[in-house]
Amino acid sequence: MTFDDLGLSPNLLAAIKDAGYTAPTPIQAGAIPVALTGRDVLGIAQTGTGKTASFTLPLIERLSRGRARARMPRSLILCPTRELADQVAQNVRLYAKNHKLTMALLIGGVAFQPQKEILDKGADILIATPGRLLDHFERGGLMLMGIEIMIVDEADRMLDMGFIPDIEKIFSLVPPRRQTLFFSATMPNEIVRIVNTFLKDPERVEVSRPAQTAETIKQYIVRVSDGSPAGKRAALRAAINRDNVKNGIVFCNRKRDVDIVARSLQRHGFSAAPIHGDLAQAQRTKTLADFKSDQVRILVASDVAARGLDIPAVSHVFNFDIPRNADDYVHRIGRTGRAGLTGESVTLVTGDDKKSLANVAKLIGGEPETLVLDGAATPAPAARSASEKAGDAEGEVKASRSRRASRSKPRGAAEKSEDQAAAKAPPPAPAPANDAQKGKRGARQAKNKDVEAAGFGDHVPDFLLRSAFG
Ligand code: AMP
Repeated sequence: MTFDDLGLSPNLLAAIKDAGYTAPTPIQAGAIPVALTGRDVLGIAQTGTGKTASFTLPLIERLSRGRARARMPRSLILCPTRELADQVAQNVRLYAKNHKLTMALLIGGVAFQPQKEILDKGADILIATPGRLLDHFERGGLMLMGIEIMIVDEADRMLDMGFIPDIEKIFSLVPPRRQTLFFSATMPNEIVRIVNTFLKDPERVEVSRPAQTAETIKQYIVRVSDGSPAGKRAALRAAINRDNVKNGIVFCNRKRDVDIVARSLQRHGFSAAPIHGDLAQAQRTKTLADFKSDQVRILVASDVAARGLDIPAVSHVFNFDIPRNADDYVHRIGRTGRAGLTGESVTLVTGDDKKSLANVAKLIGGEPETLVLDGAATPAPAARSASEKAGDAEGEVKASRSRRASRSKPRGAAEKSEDQAAAKAPPPAPAPANDAQKGKRGARQAKNKDVEAAGFGDHVPDFLLRSAFG
């Protein structure tokens, strides 16, 4: 199937071509023709599937066929986070470049008045987070009677963030005769109830989760015998020091830990920055930009903050905590191995995580392979960014992928107390990888070669990583 088969006009097809897309993704092929007929759509798809274009393209097409109305927005896209709203706006700008459509981005954390001025001039498309949209409405600066198309993006995340009452209120403020395009990665009961209440006979378009289909993601768990926070931080450093970690996102379950882990990584010489909802918007935007431009190599995030961030080609996902909700595991690891690129996820697991691990194993059909890490210290030389090269005091690390590798040398007295609590290796055993492991590694290295051009950097084989204490 090509984009020409979907019923889009030449102006839009030209913009799609300029974006470099050659064929629609499954969610686009399923949702776009239905949305163009005016029917409601329930799209079950997560970030990375091309879902944003699956609602923005038909939206632009339908709006371009209608007429603008003075001071009355004709469409509304609701997003759970400011970053996601911003990314949707960037998508709309890209695809609507050959159309005369106006847009207002209504997100919290930035000044109110400039948004109001844009609204006063008139906008065809509103892209908003629920709180700020209701703020504008309640202050009388916004009319919603003209909404013909309403889109809800990442509804399950709205639920996680406690936005469902706001969403219900907004549904009650827009005209009942409207088209609704509703997207969610998962369908918890509360979301099913919202769909049943506010959508009219929607066409359900479901695509499989990338994480379940992506053979491009190699998943590992690391059993951290010292499950203390310091022990986990040491294990995390060892995990980051493994072979070809170009860049990565570290997920923590708690906001508090996002800051602690980011600070700890920085102290150990890693180029790392936190991103979570308590940070000022300007700070979040800057951190994200630094990460995208490779100034920051490791982003430490909470689920909520990371949701919807459009970060192409993340080589690694690290779960500092295994998520309590198995669906979050799938969301998180879906940040790597995108669009055919290879990627890896490494999840730290302690003795307290048995239940969460069982939930993940049930969802993905088995436990990820166990990886044994040896030691934890500063970034390995070949994989370092410029800022990381600054502090070299603590030596390097040997990180072995062997399942049974043991710590090869006694640990130095100069290590920090944090390091002493590092992931303890299981009983000593001969270290060399067996043939099967070598074979696997060879295959992966070959694969990684293919993606070097896409920015994964040089692959650094394990044996080139020097031992910290050798
Ligand atoms: P999304 O799931 O909307 O976050 O999209 C994930 C990524 O895929 C974004 O970087 C899009 O620019 C990209 N993308 C969307 N549609 C296509 C397509 N048909 N072909 C190639 N890339 C696409």
